[in-house]
Amino acid sequence: MQEPKLLDASGGCLCGEVRYHIYSTSVDAGFCHCRMCQKSSGAPTIAWVTVVTEGFTYTRGEPALFQSSAQAQREFCGRCGTQLVFRQQRDPGLVDVTIATLDNPSLVQPEYHIWNSSRMEWLHLADQLPTYNDEGPDANA
Ligand SMILES: [Zn+2]
Ligand SMILES: [Zn+2]
Repeated sequence: MQEPKLLDASGGCLCGEVRYHIYSTSVDAGFCHCRMCQKSSGAPTIAWVTVVTEGFTYTRGEPALFQSSAQAQREFCGRCGTQLVFRQQRDPGLVDVTIATLDNPSLVQPEYHIWNSSRMEWLHLADQLPTYNDEGPDANA
């Protein structure tokens, strides 16, 4: 894992109705290739950054909520559909935010791949990042 880094960054959905701000040490960041991330985004993978829940605030609008499994909730713009946040009941202190919705996505570098077992077979990964076939050693993405 890279050195903990203070993230002071804003982001939001495609249409601009839902905006957020992060002021938190980023816990980690990585790609998730699970089927639920694929389906919920319509994309082959989602890059997430995990931050401390207290450091995440919605600054504009209210997200729509979708309970995507018994223990997890996804938050997205109810107007344009952009997925913004993932929360797990077992980890109330942490929240995952989609890196692509940051105003400056270059602020965060993904460090690993999880759920590689359901990675799209045509998606070729040329990076050298650690890759796990399940939720990985940290289990918070
Ligand atoms: Zn929107
Ligand atoms: Zn996932």
